[in-house]
Amino acid sequence: MYTGSLRPQIGALDPYTPGLSIDEIRQKFGLAQIYKMASNENPLGVPPLAQEAIARHAQEAFRYPRGGNPRLVHALAELHKVSEKKLVIGNGSDEVIDLLIRMLCDPVSDSIVCFQPCFNLYPIQAQISGVTIKRCPLKEDFSFDFAGMLKAIDDTTRIVFLTTPDNPSGYCPVAKNVRAFAKQLEQKAPKALLLIDEAYMDFCQDEKAFSLLAQGDIPSNVGIMRTFSKSYGLAGLRLGYAILPEALAEGFWRARLPFSVNLLAEEAGLAALEDQAFREKTMETVRQGRTLLTERLTDMGCTVWPSAANFLLFTLPHPAKAADCFTTLLSHGIIIRLLKSYSLPDHLRVSIGNTQENGAFLKEMASFLGRIEK
Ligand SMILES: *Cc1c(COP(=O)(O)O)cnc(C)c1O
Repeated sequence: MYTGSLRPQIGALDPYTPGLSIDEIRQKFGLAQIYKMASNENPLGVPPLAQEAIARHAQEAFRYPRGGNPRLVHALAELHKVSEKKLVIGNGSDEVIDLLIRMLCDPVSDSIVCFQPCFNLYPIQAQISGVTIKRCPLKEDFSFDFAGMLKAIDDTTRIVFLTTPDNPSGYCPVAKNVRAFAKQLEQKAPKALLLIDEAYMDFCQDEKAFSLLAQGDIPSNVGIMRTFSKSYGLAGLRLGYAILPEALAEGFWRARLPFSVNLLAEEAGLAALEDQAFREKTMETVRQGRTLLTERLTDMGCTVWPSAANFLLFTLPHPAKAADCFTTLLSHGIIIRLLKSYSLPDHLRVSIGNTQENGAFLKEMASFLGRIEK
């Protein structure tokens, strides 16, 4: 008889909660039309040039991809004007996060530091690795308490996670403040990497003011992650990357599973980088939609947080309940995000959609709030 058991870290694990899938909701409610505005995916779908590349390369899928994704490394290094030696690519940013934790933190003795709430994958992957998690609360307005975070950092800290713009709030600190924090971190904990997750940075109006990567001068203790899942419209193919200190990038390639980025993802990624028209349309759609949803939700009495990303965090006017709103919209085929897993039971997050999605969402919101007794 088998008598093995899960490691305690896995036995106690709350898994990452993804947004609900379209198929799941279609089946449950028997609806024909579902609008998914829960996972911050691209509202315009897959870039046309990437679709062509996937079709063109489908017949090569029986081959292993080339190791190390050199063509994509080259293209991304050009795009960001950084050395190829600093670039790493993974099966989504998720793989980069997971692998960096395992590469840099010894279980038990070492720790990571992140905000509370934050993108849940950081603490979840740390827990799986048996790494200690230290958290610092965000300020009440969801801005960053850099001084508080610095206090949580000590000589066991190996990675400090920042998300800019932040998920789920959309808040984004100016680059000047992040740079100053990196400097303080270097002085207090020279063994700690500041890992900045810029998954949503390209939705900012002015990247130069907010991104250390866009400024082109990355401090030696900083790594920056980006992804193809949002503005590039390839979430389902799983493709993310990071710009790291050279020694870490070199270790990353040795530690990464050899073929974690598949052949079609690499081809689609290369094509997506070329699809300027799609990108421009995406940015325009997101910026216009962000303004529209902010104005309309505010008119309905909701509190909407300013967002630099492709989603909005909001609360409802009293006495409407977030969970009721979520369920009601769901039953009408609109999936948004209830933020229970971020410990924000009164908050909702909606991804900016296309014209049709935004219209359907606003209509159902107005109808839901209209039925609530004031
Ligand atoms: C969506 C998102 C990512 C992207 O993860 P992938 O694994 O690249 O899909 C990374 N970080 C944050 C905070 C996100 O919200």
